Amino acid sequence: MARLSALQLYKLLPKTNCGECTEKTCMAFAMKLMERGVKAEHCMQLKGDKLKKLREVITPPVREVVIGKDEQAITIGGEEVIYRHDLKFFNPAAMVLDISDTMDEKTIKSRLDFVRNYKYERVGKILRLDGICLRCATNDKEKFLKTVKTVCQNFDKFIMLCTLNPEIMDAALEITKDRRPLIYAATNENFKEMSELAGKYNCPLAIHSENLDEIGSMTKTLSNAGFTDIVIDPGFDFENLSSVINKLEILRKAALKDIKEFSFPVMVSTVGLKNLNLGENAAVFEALSISLCLNRFVSLIAFHFNEIYSVMETLTLRMNVYADPRVNPTTEPKIYTVGTPDENSPVLITSNFALTYFAVAGDVESAKISCWLLVMDTEGLAVLVALAGGKLTADKIKEAMDNSKVENLVKHRKLVVPGYVGRIKGAIEDATKWEILVGPQDSGGLGDFLRKNWTGGGLEVKTK
Ligand code: SF4
Repeated sequence: MARLSALQLYKLLPKTNCGECTEKTCMAFAMKLMERGVKAEHCMQLKGDKLKKLREVITPPVREVVIGKDEQAITIGGEEVIYRHDLKFFNPAAMVLDISDTMDEKTIKSRLDFVRNYKYERVGKILRLDGICLRCATNDKEKFLKTVKTVCQNFDKFIMLCTLNPEIMDAALEITKDRRPLIYAATNENFKEMSELAGKYNCPLAIHSENLDEIGSMTKTLSNAGFTDIVIDPGFDFENLSSVINKLEILRKAALKDIKEFSFPVMVSTVGLKNLNLGENAAVFEALSISLCLNRFVSLIAFHFNEIYSVMETLTLRMNVYADPRVNPTTEPKIYTVGTPDENSPVLITSNFALTYFAVAGDVESAKISCWLLVMDTEGLAVLVALAGGKLTADKIKEAMDNSKVENLVKHRKLVVPGYVGRIKGAIEDATKWEILVGPQDSGGLGDFLRKNWTGGGLEVKTK
């Protein structure tokens, strides 16, 4: 169903402005509803068929599926567009590392530690993995259950249980039922038994088939029975990536055309890649495969290699794909320290576009220079754009300096501005009464620039 405007949603609300929800007016509620900031049931006045109708119209073309419970729960799917720039993607794809019952206990614990502890900071955001895909590779019930128990004792995040054997799945679910794991997978052969298990344990179910007609038939049967916590796995062929991408595109387009059988999040598993003889290139090849899928609407990826460089690359890409294109990434406008600045150290100014701030701070830090870095509010625009758009002016620089009280931090009255800002140097001097030094256009040159032009001292980084 096409995305409804706030006005269309408002028409479905009681329009009493009673204020019993989180908002003061129904229109404010409708606007938040459109951005998924509230749920239909948060309107205290809506009941019965009217609530049902509202829920129906706000259900995204790709349904949301919640895996896990309480604070460990993650939501996948819930998407409304093919191209991110048409709106945004709402729920980042879950990334789960493979653990199998063929691994020894030490390896299992080390992989669990990796998922639990690995984190990577990029432009102020902490990027992490989401959980594990626990595979029964032996088809040995006792062995798998032993692995399941080890995992449950040492790990509390998202779990996906993988076996095509319903009897083994039933026993594993008995151990993990409180965590609401993802059941992987129902196929044409075990569909009846696996769907019964999904109902019995109230767990989401992955449907696997390389044939889209078969997938459609299985999801239709489940939906008709009222079960919609479904994840689709159309398979992953390493030797035919174009067909994989093709299928992923077909599935997203079908969901957006309101074809109910395909209105579910899609997953892929690249775990089988470890069986190919790719030697040292295997992790790189897997990272490339994951990248292709992340760019083509996948909501969950099970993977095998946990080399830092490959995980870092895929998590960074995921962050970029799921960033909201309508909102510039920003840093809080305030004065930051780099190194150990004192009253003689230079004062630099830049915009609050996050990428600019992290580039400038990183370049000065790696040049081993101490400084005060004043980040001014340019509404998330980079320096040149802010300058052209009137968000970085002499008066605004003066205002940022006053707000930060930078004059109390240093004895000198010298400000280093980015190279692009040189054209308004005179206006800044008039507004601030400070001497303006025009720095390089590229922050990579700040180290050399300051060593050559800064005469007041305070550049060195002191050891504490
Ligand atoms: S509870 Fe419902 S009727 Fe009352 S203000 Fe909120 S949206 Fe409007």
